[in-house]
Amino acid sequence: MGKHVMQNLRAIFYFLLLVTAAFSAGAEPFSVGDVEAFEGTQVSGFLEVPAGTDAGSKIPITVIHGATPGPVLALLAGVHGYEYPPITALQSIRSEIDPTLLRGTVILVHVANLPSFLGRTIYYSPVDGKNLNRMFPGDPEGTLSQRIAHQITTKVIDQADYLIDLHSGDGNEALRPYVYMPVTGDTVFDQKIKGMAVAFGLDHIVIDTGPQYASGPSLFSDQTALVRGIPAITTETGQSGSNDPHWSELAKSGIWNVLRHLRMVPGVEVPNLGITWLTDYQVVKSPASGIFKPATKDGYTVTKGALLGVLVDFFGNEITKIRAPFSGVINYVISTPPVTKGEPVAMMSKIQGH
Ligand SMILES: [Zn+2]
Repeated sequence: MGKHVMQNLRAIFYFLLLVTAAFSAGAEPFSVGDVEAFEGTQVSGFLEVPAGTDAGSKIPITVIHGATPGPVLALLAGVHGYEYPPITALQSIRSEIDPTLLRGTVILVHVANLPSFLGRTIYYSPVDGKNLNRMFPGDPEGTLSQRIAHQITTKVIDQADYLIDLHSGDGNEALRPYVYMPVTGDTVFDQKIKGMAVAFGLDHIVIDTGPQYASGPSLFSDQTALVRGIPAITTETGQSGSNDPHWSELAKSGIWNVLRHLRMVPGVEVPNLGITWLTDYQVVKSPASGIFKPATKDGYTVTKGALLGVLVDFFGNEITKIRAPFSGVINYVISTPPVTKGEPVAMMSKIQGH
């Protein structure tokens, strides 16, 4: 055989070797935008949010594609950019999950709302003044928050089998940890949601029956998943802008137990004992702009008419006292002075069976 023939045969041999290797490693990577991970690997990168009527942004994400096929769990952090513990928790999760032992795929959205995070704003984006968790499913032609929501909906939620949207008390909210457990009325579907809500391990679960299930835009990330047939919960761990490890550990241990519940990692689900089920949650809103002086604390149980706080004007004159609309538990209460008319001063729920 001539030299060229040998070279060609060798080239073909190495080509076949490469093809075989690619197939055995899982030929199809799992892609979220340009971030692609082959089976048994994890890759981090950015989901680009192109500029539109205002500047663009980017969303830091990690795709952990397990060695064995299984469900896709999407974990969103930083939808509100001042809610730090879930952001910290996902950084730990990224280094702790071993893709070679993972069944299925985990998509980590490290900071959904980078403009709000870097701008240190509560609730609203510093770019367009909008609340990202009221902008779903998003709009590619809209302002930045709407375009971020659109990217998360189409690139992350649409690929997920399960979703956890991880929040905490915002920079102004003293909050006792809880999970929002949506109830849709579909028994089989609701059992899947409940399985996640219980596995997350918090002892307060708010039964969430609406009103977001009305027709119209899905507004919330969890609702966006639900209308697509994807079980979803929203979790709240942390408060008042604190990034204390206690709060991020709470989020992290919740995620790990959901991973066990979904049989995506080895180990037995830790049972959640002693859950307090909460119903009829109500966000108590401020009747005027001014300064709120709380008279209660997160986690307290209060009776109907109990003083939640006093609203004063910018000179310190009392505008009104704000009282509990019913007997129940304080899920969160506003812990810093500024309030704008129509914004929350507290959230309360009734304790089921009381
Ligand atoms: Zn939030």
